[in-house]
Amino acid sequence: MRTLCLYTANLFNKAHKDAKYEGIIGLLTPICKAYCSEQGFNVSVEALQAHGGYGYCTEYGVEQFVRDTKIATIYEGTNAIQAIDFVMRKILKDGGKALGALTQEIVTAVGALDESKFKKEKDLFTKVLMSAQTTMQQLSGYAKNNQYNLILQNCTDFLQFASQMVLGWKLLESAVLADQKIPGASAEDKKYYESKVTDFRIYCNQFLIHNLSIAKTITDFTDDMTTLEI
Ligand SMILES: Cc1cc2nc3c(=O)[nH]c(=O)nc-3n(C[C@H](O)[C@H](O)[C@H](O)COP(=O)(O)OP(=O)(O)OC[C@H]3O[C@@H](n4cnc5c(N)ncnc54)[C@H](O)[C@@H]3O)c2cc1C
Repeated sequence: MRTLCLYTANLFNKAHKDAKYEGIIGLLTPICKAYCSEQGFNVSVEALQAHGGYGYCTEYGVEQFVRDTKIATIYEGTNAIQAIDFVMRKILKDGGKALGALTQEIVTAVGALDESKFKKEKDLFTKVLMSAQTTMQQLSGYAKNNQYNLILQNCTDFLQFASQMVLGWKLLESAVLADQKIPGASAEDKKYYESKVTDFRIYCNQFLIHNLSIAKTITDFTDDMTTLEI
């Protein structure tokens, strides 16, 4: 998440000279805000849980992180509103231009992955990219038919899907760079570089893999919940 925020911040520098970066900045902003604040909160909850009863009690300070990180999901545009902005304005209103450009960069990075080292990750990422296409087709289809209720009910899921794909891409870049630096690195640096490769593998197996089920949730979505009787 830190990598993504720094990457996006650097795009602001580039956009001073070339306006073409503005679309990508617009697309990445709700990801930085909503996904990172959501995960910041989730990490704090996990930290509390790992401390057991001590974590819950005020004198150890961990529970304060839970409360303090929660606000970031609410102010500066609640995360549900960020998700709507992401799908409705940053993707559909833009005609998918920025998303297409970003996805192309990810496709190129995944295509260049060395199969002898990252076969499992490459296969998974390829499936994720294919499901990005099908979920986007689904949402665009709703827009063509003016079924905006159906889009609104899937925005948060799609933002999570896209965020995890983008974060996976950033971790992929780190892993590839680190892997190139391992030969000839000092023992200490080697450990660090290897940890970057491990981060990417773990992220794929533990997080990115969820994208396949998120995509299924979106593509199999049938019930417009606003019409259900409760
Ligand atoms: C500690 C704190 C500091 C703040 N500081 C500032 C400040 O400095 N300046 C300022 O201007 N404001 C500030 N705010 C206000 C903050 O921006 C709002 O609380 C925030 O925008 C959410 O608005 P709301 O509280 O009216 O919630 P609501 O808009 O009532 O939202 C309630 C819930 O419903 C969801 N929701 C609402 N509409 C939709 C929708 N269409 N689709 C899906 N879900 C939806 C929201 O995501 C949210 O979870 C602060 C709030 C807090 C708690």
